[in-house]
Amino acid sequence: MLYLNGQFLRPEDAKISALDRGCLFGDGVYEVIPVYSRQPFRLAEHVHRLDASLASIALPNPHSAAEWMELVQAVIARQDYDDQSVYLHVTRGSASERDFPFPQDVEPTVLINPAPLVTPSHEQKARGVRAISHADFRWLRCDIKSLNLLPTVLLREAAKRAGCAECLMFRDGWLSEGAASNIFVVKDGVIAVPPKDHLILPGITYDLVLELAKQHGLPLEVRRISEAETRAADELWMTSSTKEILAIVELDGQPVGKGQVGPLAQRMDAHYQEFKQTVMRG
Ligand code: PLP
Repeated sequence: MLYLNGQFLRPEDAKISALDRGCLFGDGVYEVIPVYSRQPFRLAEHVHRLDASLASIALPNPHSAAEWMELVQAVIARQDYDDQSVYLHVTRGSASERDFPFPQDVEPTVLINPAPLVTPSHEQKARGVRAISHADFRWLRCDIKSLNLLPTVLLREAAKRAGCAECLMFRDGWLSEGAASNIFVVKDGVIAVPPKDHLILPGITYDLVLELAKQHGLPLEVRRISEAETRAADELWMTSSTKEILAIVELDGQPVGKGQVGPLAQRMDAHYQEFKQTVMRG
């Protein structure tokens, strides 16, 4: 069952107008929330980022944080599987004609559509994954989790065709992020990550990694990272809500460090899993 504009429906019964601005213009924002054993992870943080994305596109938030949390829990409860990836989007709704400026008196479209959660396999965790790189040709508001995902579609397709899990992006010689993940770089025992500015998505996992590094006394710097530095890293990690912390062991066919999952990736992943277990136990 999914949720669409106030109703719980079977996916085959859910219909959105052909004039929905999400469909016509990508005029909307989204979130993906991981759910373990029916418990959403970092839900308040996702709802907070959704609010920030909506504010950035001047789309009034149709729900309070408490209402969002209730709605997400109601969707989770209606599924017949425990581990879920809850996709949620809000568009500016559907007007009577295709016109760029904001329409007046139009209700936003709210969709909450869960799917079974797919986290990295044990093999991927143990061996790490491969990545390619590409120039970052996205716009300059990558901090908004917008429905305009054509660059992501093209870059992830290129990664898939190359047998890789992710595509790292560089803008003017500087690391930005992965097509659908944030990227951490390790050199000589120090973890580094680019700052949360308009060039990257402020990842929920990014924030948690920063928190965990602080808590466990691991050195971490938030700063710009050059392409050369990225390619000379001892370790590279990709992070996202569904991929968690995943080591990249090969970039553009070249080994990253020793070409194996590094000690800091293993340590951070252990801290992450421990944190998750603690939260889930309540
Ligand atoms: N950066 C981009 C472009 C993303 O699409 C995502 C997630 O999909 C992330 C970073 C990671 O964000 P989060 O940790 O909130 O899942």
